[in-house]
Amino acid sequence: MKQVEQWDKEYVWHPFTQMKEWVAQPQLTIVGGEGVKLIDDEGRSYYDGVSSLWVNLHGHRHPTINRAIVEQLDKIAHSSLLGLINEPAARLAAELMEVVPAGLKKVFYSDDGSTAVEIAIKQAYQYWQLKGKAKKKTFVTLANAYHGDTVGTVSVGGIDLFHRIFKSLLFPSIQVPCPNCYHCQLAKTEESCAMACLTAVETVLKERHEEIAALVVEPLIQAAAGMLTQPKGYLKGLRELTKKYDVLLLVDEVATGFGRTGKMFACEHEGVTPDFLMVAKGITGGYLPLAATFMTQEIYEAFLGDYGEQKTFFHGHSYTGNPLACAAALGNLQVFREERLLESLPGKVVQVKTALDKIGKLKHVGDIRQCGLMVGIELMADAKTKTPYPWEAAVGARVCAEARRLGMIIRPLGNIVVFMPPLASKETELAEMTAILEKAIRSVTEDGAGQDSPAVFI
Ligand SMILES: *Cc1c(COP(=O)(O)O)cnc(C)c1O
Repeated sequence: MKQVEQWDKEYVWHPFTQMKEWVAQPQLTIVGGEGVKLIDDEGRSYYDGVSSLWVNLHGHRHPTINRAIVEQLDKIAHSSLLGLINEPAARLAAELMEVVPAGLKKVFYSDDGSTAVEIAIKQAYQYWQLKGKAKKKTFVTLANAYHGDTVGTVSVGGIDLFHRIFKSLLFPSIQVPCPNCYHCQLAKTEESCAMACLTAVETVLKERHEEIAALVVEPLIQAAAGMLTQPKGYLKGLRELTKKYDVLLLVDEVATGFGRTGKMFACEHEGVTPDFLMVAKGITGGYLPLAATFMTQEIYEAFLGDYGEQKTFFHGHSYTGNPLACAAALGNLQVFREERLLESLPGKVVQVKTALDKIGKLKHVGDIRQCGLMVGIELMADAKTKTPYPWEAAVGARVCAEARRLGMIIRPLGNIVVFMPPLASKETELAEMTAILEKAIRSVTEDGAGQDSPAVFI
């Protein structure tokens, strides 16, 4: 075993990983990147088919972002935002205000998606305390929601596998049904349902709005749950209902933000401005950890008062507003402008859809869900009767192992194969990536060829 792998296996505990399996199997070491490819320590290259876990937008080593970081590094790597201004953080705030939905006026920085959501939860809670409506303390969340891994964000999460062990550690929240049609929890069919999932939300808000602070939602698509897409109009419906019942709307765009759904933010698809909007993953183009929580003027002003009133939001992190990360984020926005990235997306979305239509016809593909360049392919033992593969068969993991052998790194969510290419992927690259996807699915579910391939841990 190489030295690096030895160190890793002796000392490093990997995220979301069964370490017993990890140390028992050969693992890949990434030493470089080039465009939308990752390069291993033996010089082999692989398509970065899930954008390095949903963060990378413009490929690796993009000259504009590299330059932005290096130029800032020559000035200073870090100074605190506690009691001091730094130029990248201030400039980035101004530039972000140009692209977020109208009505969001302030930004609070942090380091990752979990903290961005955590901050929105705490501010929404404190907001009602400050407004003299102290009873409004509870959060409404969707079944299958994922908002991060801290205790606060797990409290508004709903992925049983990840969250059940921590149950007694969490604050209680109210769960409404997951709005995905393929997995409809209300046993409706799309034609006849009249969006019963939205009616279920209204029932809760109507009854309990006096104790409800906010509703938290991933817009258009619940990504970590398995790319569970929502019916058109659901998000807009949530905005109308939360307004009607005086409940704040917290929209978690950590996964969907920065072009991933085909528009800069998912909210734009339905003309929604939330009370809070949270972003992270793509904000630096996938270069450095940075997150942002946006809020309206109304929220911000509730916290204003004299020093002695102690209305302050007592929250911050050591690296809040880190200049290097903010410089990377400025580079990211520059690439969006200079390369007219948003204009290039509709064509790519259609290209991927065409390739997926073909994959959708494969025998063991139960459902394909696409939202912009976010894709989930759900595999089924029997697609017709919606009979899932047993968990132990690790079919999703086997498809990903096979894809890796064919030259693309992807990761599954259970038996759902996730495909989320960098937005900058060219037409030829997308064609090769979707071809690998199809080949890997076929070889594992039809030919049986990949069935002995080692399951990378999911
Ligand atoms: C990834 C993700 C988070 C958590 O972000 P981290 O940076 O991993 O803490 C929160 N919400 C959504 C929707 C996500 O996809």
